[in-house]
Amino acid sequence: MDKNIREMISDLKAYLEYLKGMGIVFIPVSENIPEKVTQSEILTLADVRNELGDCKRCKLHRTRKTIVFGEGNEKATLMFIGEGPGYDEDVQGRPFVGKAGQLLTKIIQSINIQREEVYIANIIKCRPPQNRNPEPDEIESCNPFLMKQINAIQPKVICALGTFSAQTLLKTDAKITAIRGKIYDLEGIKVIPTYHPAFLLRNPDKKREVWEDMKKIAELMSLGADSI
Ligand code: URA
Repeated sequence: MDKNIREMISDLKAYLEYLKGMGIVFIPVSENIPEKVTQSEILTLADVRNELGDCKRCKLHRTRKTIVFGEGNEKATLMFIGEGPGYDEDVQGRPFVGKAGQLLTKIIQSINIQREEVYIANIIKCRPPQNRNPEPDEIESCNPFLMKQINAIQPKVICALGTFSAQTLLKTDAKITAIRGKIYDLEGIKVIPTYHPAFLLRNPDKKREVWEDMKKIAELMSLGADSI
């Protein structure tokens, strides 16, 4: 090692010992993060899409037709996050375009917002075979990209659609029935879980609860609300 570096290390050690003797055991690192670093860490949705590439990070790439990245307003204040693409989404490469998607569009419009104004994504970006539930390794592979999308958009509120979305975003095993309609925090973003539109298609009597949750979202966003 260079003699100067050895001397510097020795001086630094002596200085730290001196501070320790004075009872100082913690040295704060400057909060002034250099602008360059901050800038390079702010990814746009296009950056995230580029980084994802022709993703083969999990086994779903073998059976998918299309990666369903997500769509909508890059500056959305409200984001909807579902489970994963189904047949129609896999064919079209767009989230929520099947029957459940049509219901989601109505749900969004119920609080006087157009679908194009929000951003819609999923916990996983590739369709599982036969629409089975997403598996933990698939969710884990996809999660960094979803987090980067959320970071790029910085919505005020996220509506988590269904069990997988709510459990993944909130890192919980709690049942959707126990957590729906409550307001959670994800790094400063409000997260409200509600039932998945596909579940509503099978259980139309649960629409009332989703309606209550949407009214809460409208309130958080200072919007008016009609009915689903
Ligand atoms: N269900 C989902 O969770 N996501 C879609 O994109 C479509 C159906």
